[in-house]
Amino acid sequence: MKRTALLLTICAFLVGLARSQQPTHFDGKTWWGYVKVLADDKMEGRETGSAGLRKAEAYIVEQLKKDGLEPAGVNGFYQPVKFVSRQIVEKDSSLVLVRDGKTQPLTLGDDAIFSTRIDLAPSVEAPLVFVGNGFAVPEMNYDDFAGVDLKGKVAVIMAGAPAEIPGALASHYQSAAERSKALQKAGAIGTITILNPASMDIPWSRISVNRAHPSMALVGEEFDETAGQKLSVIFNPAKAEQLFAGSGHNLQEILDLAKDRKPLPRFPLAVSIKAKAKVEHKTLESANVIARLPGSDARLKNEYVVLSAHIDHLGIGEPINGDRIYNGAMDNGSGSALLLDVAESLKKSPEQLKRSLLFVFVTGEEKGLLGSKYFTAHPTVKTDSMVADINVDMFLPIVPLKVLTILGYHDSDLGEEAGKIAESLGVKPQSDPEPQRNGFIRSDQYNFIRHGIPGLAMQVSFEKGSPEQKIFKDWLTQRYHAPSDDLEQPVDTSAAAKFEEIVRALMVRVADEDQRPQWKQDSFFRRYAQLSPGGN
Ligand SMILES: [Zn+2]
Repeated sequence: MKRTALLLTICAFLVGLARSQQPTHFDGKTWWGYVKVLADDKMEGRETGSAGLRKAEAYIVEQLKKDGLEPAGVNGFYQPVKFVSRQIVEKDSSLVLVRDGKTQPLTLGDDAIFSTRIDLAPSVEAPLVFVGNGFAVPEMNYDDFAGVDLKGKVAVIMAGAPAEIPGALASHYQSAAERSKALQKAGAIGTITILNPASMDIPWSRISVNRAHPSMALVGEEFDETAGQKLSVIFNPAKAEQLFAGSGHNLQEILDLAKDRKPLPRFPLAVSIKAKAKVEHKTLESANVIARLPGSDARLKNEYVVLSAHIDHLGIGEPINGDRIYNGAMDNGSGSALLLDVAESLKKSPEQLKRSLLFVFVTGEEKGLLGSKYFTAHPTVKTDSMVADINVDMFLPIVPLKVLTILGYHDSDLGEEAGKIAESLGVKPQSDPEPQRNGFIRSDQYNFIRHGIPGLAMQVSFEKGSPEQKIFKDWLTQRYHAPSDDLEQPVDTSAAAKFEEIVRALMVRVADEDQRPQWKQDSFFRRYAQLSPGGN
């Protein structure tokens, strides 16, 4: 063996040794211990505003105190948040299609359901127009509403986005706020969304069974992003053919194009809709939980690295296989437990971190990222003092951690730093393998990003076409937002431990780095930092 070859062998051996080194701060067991408490039946699925969620939050506050963290809410660790809940009263509501004066009633639950995410008007009668994927991206001169007359009409939308639109832009402009701005500009008064069978996480039967479950909105005009919208209906794709009758187009043609994520045609439909909606409103209160660990550097301790996770879930709902409690063990008992585990690890092996840390447990995520929307609009520390948000939501340690998906990988220094840490632990980082699922805007990091704060979320993941891909797909179909996301499911605690190690290392690095993380010049989301005062 030549000398250089020998050296290379030794190097390779050392690298291998470093990679095979087990994480040092976590064993997966304490994490699972926290999950067991938070996803216990006693917590009743942690519905926003419920006694179960209050109990879970009280437990979290108790742990944070034990770990020596300081309260950083409004009322101690708590930041109260007010909601109005909306529940459809189906027996007093109806949907009817009208064609050439002939009416055809729809079966609520089977054909379609009302969405109470917007404040439904008591009655709406309007023509329908099919507008493809139903969004506009000014940066790309893409506009599903251009050249179609939508004044006073209801837009029929096929969920999804054409492949030609980059994931971040497609996601952003399909958010409720942005889409509703574009709809309003076009004069539309509502939407009927046909779910796209090619990208549905949850089968229709499960969506339909919980349709009477209340939705929630933040109290306060500043939060009303869907003003002007009177109707919102979700349509079962298996029953959507009737919308196209007499239009010269058919559903299959649309589904075929949507499956391949090709651009969709836009055209007026021959049917119109008559809707009656009775909605019951109630007000309720919930809270975010916020804790601080002060930094040690005289100057940098005034800045915060935020670690966030939503603690709420879906509560008690319609039974599936005899189980009514939607425990949310992975969604997001897992992320909340991770924050507690990291806080505990900092007590056990305290590093003198330069920046301060902010642990933010938000409520109302399942209702549309509402707790984080409230927190970022009314932060308990200055917005520009938050240098980064590392959000942890449903990171799914259900297979060994070999591949890590980083949502926001190439958007900021934060993403690339996370990628380097993953690599140093022998984990392959990748950007979102399924951008059409809109992951980057579907959890709380999005609200931080909209306030100019670099943010990311990470997930245990798979390589496309691998056997693991099916494990994830099956998990979404069967357990996601179902009572079986509970403590009986198999989890890989060593994957959880390794994931925790990555999150912790990233947090420590960002806390100690001289420079705060910057957005990449070409990141779409950089605009929000430029809009907000003090942003980078
Ligand atoms: Zn969820």
